[in-house]
Amino acid sequence: MSRVANRPTVSVHKFSSCDGCQLAFLNMGEGLIDLAQQVEIVHFAEAGMVAPERATDITFVEGSVSTPEDQERIQQIRQRSGLLITIGACATSGGIQALRNLQGEDWRASLYATPETIASLATSTPISDHVKVDLELWGCPIRSEQLLPLLHDLLHGVQPGKMEEPLCQSCKRSGVICTVVSQGKPCMGPVTRGGCGAVCPRMGRDCYGCSGPIDHPNRAALERCLEGLGLLPDTIQRRFKMIHATQFGGDHRREKA
Ligand code: SF4
Ligand code: SF4
Repeated sequence: MSRVANRPTVSVHKFSSCDGCQLAFLNMGEGLIDLAQQVEIVHFAEAGMVAPERATDITFVEGSVSTPEDQERIQQIRQRSGLLITIGACATSGGIQALRNLQGEDWRASLYATPETIASLATSTPISDHVKVDLELWGCPIRSEQLLPLLHDLLHGVQPGKMEEPLCQSCKRSGVICTVVSQGKPCMGPVTRGGCGAVCPRMGRDCYGCSGPIDHPNRAALERCLEGLGLLPDTIQRRFKMIHATQFGGDHRREKA
């Protein structure tokens, strides 16, 4: 952490992903200008700075490891990084593309006419399956409001806290009326980590779990609750497999690459 004290260097690297989490940086607006004065951003292709080989004090990684090239590149990036921070569902859990990890047969053959030409791994896996990760920011996508306090802490030598409480506690703390209780909507809040400010329940809609599971999700209890709301077994399983396809426990544990 001491390396981040004086105008640290920062890079943002992309792996298999949609670029949405990188947009959280650009969406900071004036905050980004502020940040650029406090750090030296050396590689962030989406913002126009391209120097992927440079070593940096703080490295943000978006996206999952899903190709042989990804496997090699993440090792090199780890060696050149002080702190390595993963951002978003793809980097922290493999993302939607990890649905392929649940396929028995080779998914390439069902999508491509010449699957042998597709250089892709059979699985999509989080960065932490491959290298040491110092911090994780969950969400799909992450929000600028998550990045700013994290960067503020890092620049002032403070160890950022880990978000461990379930989303339901965010609702309670903010006075948001529970969508399950008031509207009978199948909310994933009881097993989802907080940190997003309960954006969806605030708007009267149920959470679909984009911030990923808390450390010890009680999946069985939520399954019983969703069953009580009238959801069919298949629909319930789909709720758990949505964005963090292999992370909510049950019968669908992640396969390692
Ligand atoms: S709306 Fe969802 S997240 Fe909020 S308290 Fe109810 S179940 Fe929990
Ligand atoms: S309420 Fe749930 S689905 Fe909505 S942003 Fe938060 S974690 Fe994601």
